[in-house]
Amino acid sequence: MIITLPEDVKNIIERLKDCGHEAYAVGGCVRDTVLGKTPADWDITTSAKPQQVKEIFSKTFDTGIEHGTVTVLLNHVGYEVTTYRIDGEYEDGRHPKQVEFTSSLEEDLKRRDFTINAMAYNDNQGLVDLFGGMEDLDKGVIRCVGNPMERFDEDALRMLRALRFAAQLDFEIDSKTIDAIVELAPTIEKVSKERIMVELVKMLVSDHPDRLREVVSCGLSKYFLPELDVMFETEQNNKHHCYTVGEHTMQALLNVPNDKILRLTMLLHDVAKPLVKKTDETGVDHFKTHPIVGADMAVEILRRLKFDNNTISKVKKLVLHHDDRPVATEKAVRRAAVKMGPECFPEIFAVKRADTLAQSTWNREEKLREIDDFENIYHNIIEQNQCISKKDMMVNGRDIMDLGAPQGKIIGEVLDRLFEEIVDDPELNDRDYLIIRAKQLLGEI
Ligand code: ATP
Ligand code: MG
Repeated sequence: MIITLPEDVKNIIERLKDCGHEAYAVGGCVRDTVLGKTPADWDITTSAKPQQVKEIFSKTFDTGIEHGTVTVLLNHVGYEVTTYRIDGEYEDGRHPKQVEFTSSLEEDLKRRDFTINAMAYNDNQGLVDLFGGMEDLDKGVIRCVGNPMERFDEDALRMLRALRFAAQLDFEIDSKTIDAIVELAPTIEKVSKERIMVELVKMLVSDHPDRLREVVSCGLSKYFLPELDVMFETEQNNKHHCYTVGEHTMQALLNVPNDKILRLTMLLHDVAKPLVKKTDETGVDHFKTHPIVGADMAVEILRRLKFDNNTISKVKKLVLHHDDRPVATEKAVRRAAVKMGPECFPEIFAVKRADTLAQSTWNREEKLREIDDFENIYHNIIEQNQCISKKDMMVNGRDIMDLGAPQGKIIGEVLDRLFEEIVDDPELNDRDYLIIRAKQLLGEI
């Protein structure tokens, strides 16, 4: 097996070797290259101690020096160079409590989570594959290095990582590994929400986000996203649907581009349905107010999982408006766009399409046509520069004050009224007209 290492990586490995140390590309980059994928980053493992690494290279950062990691900067790219180590037990955080440096590559590879992630490569030694990583890559299997029960006991996050890699690579999980996940699922509670969030996002934006089904069936999700379990238990008996809320959610994930905001929105768009479900006397299920209740639930869930405020506010808006259906006129779409706010665009169209494609085929063509119309009209509005935001009005607070209005609430009221009128008729966004109209309104108020 020959891997073509990037020049910078070769260079780092050579320099370490020239100073008498061992060094290899290791982990994800080896796995991805063997699979014919371009690795996101190249990690290097070495027998050199962090201090020695720092002495060899001119530009370095102490990324995680207490865990043996030094970032070497070469041609403006950072490479993580980590000393061979044996990990102690993982604590809540990202890293093991204590680490012990070692001079043995084998020991370093042994601490790694899965066989496919435990291979090392350099040009002199070729591929070092001590645990059957190549065979598992070939067969498409995620398997722990060593005893799965012990490995998950050391770090419970690995259970979720197994499912994440399965989703990214479309692999199956080895039976002993999956049995251990089912058995140890409750221990995921020991893991920090930040670490869980990273794996969840990687899984969501993968090509197989619907593998979340297994996160539920293994019993993992109920410790950090119990809402998803309930979604899978909720039937939807009406003409729009043919799946449980959970399965509809999986289908919606598959039908939206693999963008973090879009995938999180699809994950949570119907999260409130189990809560608001009402079955009428004919046995038909209704889910009134689910977008409103769902938007608040989405915020609570995303906060709990330590997402950033920007992500939370975007997803909240998209969940809140995922079911809005303005009639196909410019006026109605302008009003809808104002109500939804700029955070919803242009993503809302992808959200609505994915939602529709995950429903029953009843009236599907018409539903999709409605979304096309909404989108086309929205684009026309934007192309014509029609005002759908207060900041695009041809007058501002200053202008109203110059008309002699006292400072304070009244200025906002006049601007609100003018904006409403402009949204209904974009022709009115004319400075001379608006000044006259503002004077009139000041007289009235
Ligand atoms: P990605 O493509 O997502 O970066 P990766 O395999 O590089 O995938 P990282 O989380 O970047 O994953 O970790 C780099 C390597 O470190 C892994 O390939 C694995 O060998 C090891 N590793 C990372 N996290 C753990 C863990 N929790 N337990 C054991 N080994 C781990
Ligand atoms: Mg990586």
